[in-house]
Amino acid sequence: MSRLAVARVDLAALADNHARLRALAAPARLMAVIKADGYGHGLERVARALRGADAFGVAAIADGQRLRAAGHDERIVVLSGPDAPGDLAELRRLDLEAVIHHDAQLEWLEAETGSTPLRVWLKIDSGMHRLGFAPERAAEVHARLLRLPQVHREIVLMTHFAASDEFVNPATARQIETFAAATRDLPGPRSLSNSAALLGWPAARGDWVRSGGLLYGLSVVDGKTGADHGMRPALRLSTRLIAINRVPRGGAVGYAGTWTCPEDMPVGIAAIGYGDGYPRSAPSGTPVLLRGSEVPLAGRVSMDLLALDLRQLPDARVGEEVVLWGPELPAERVAAAAGTISYQLTCGLTRRVLFVEG
Ligand SMILES: *Cc1c(COP(=O)(O)O)cnc(C)c1O
Repeated sequence: MSRLAVARVDLAALADNHARLRALAAPARLMAVIKADGYGHGLERVARALRGADAFGVAAIADGQRLRAAGHDERIVVLSGPDAPGDLAELRRLDLEAVIHHDAQLEWLEAETGSTPLRVWLKIDSGMHRLGFAPERAAEVHARLLRLPQVHREIVLMTHFAASDEFVNPATARQIETFAAATRDLPGPRSLSNSAALLGWPAARGDWVRSGGLLYGLSVVDGKTGADHGMRPALRLSTRLIAINRVPRGGAVGYAGTWTCPEDMPVGIAAIGYGDGYPRSAPSGTPVLLRGSEVPLAGRVSMDLLALDLRQLPDARVGEEVVLWGPELPAERVAAAAGTISYQLTCGLTRRVLFVEG
């Protein structure tokens, strides 16, 4: 069976966004964050489009393995570091860099006998309370790391923001201050900013910016689209109409009949559903594009299918393309309707979707 749900990933858009972000971040360097399979766009595919990146950021050693297997020799940072003592040897074997954020990891390092130096990014919790050492421990942990011959002399000092997408939120200003105070007397490059902070918090530029969302042309600020930030959406999700039915006035459409036809009308059925990663929470009225016009969803999204109110396009034909999101229909519109963010939409596409490049 041919697959009708297609995600087209625009490699040129990825490369353009990357170049733009690098220019914005300069003189800081840019870590291209490609965790979660490149925010759902495909790890190897994205890395290929961004070849020559200053560094790649991944969530797991397995991602680093895949990148090395694909022939990448860029710097690769594992954003949560080793998960077990045995990971240290694997990090070295693959020449991966490790974020060290927890005492357990520090102790594994201290218990190791010397081998080739491991590059370490020391993560300080400046207020998000997710990963990182408490600020008052920064100097102690830094000194303990530097004492180890198997740790590279240049330790990058990093932190992560909880709310940098709100450009006036004092919490971010406090995080910047906390981090600066904790690391004041420590040498080494600094890395604070994610995509949103790159846009809104120039004081946090540091030496390394870590950008994910904007690379893919996704919005990193509520109420905006990727294009509003000057970025090109890199993923276009489409499918086809596989049926068009005349449903009489009063006919209820889909599971639980949550939408009722207000008149005799055409209802289109498109071959995509939550089994492909289209959000089940998208309500009636969520737009899709048909011949460039917005057409509303009617009734619940099911596993393989969704229904469309075709009253505006009564001459639509079976086989026509339906665009779920892409450059012409921002993923942010769909995400807002579904009560989520565009990141979750791209990350949530399933193996059933056919990925193509272009
Ligand atoms: C995911 C992540 C980033 C990138 O965040 P964006 O908002 O997508 O730019 C940066 N730093 C860390 C530690 C991350 O986990």
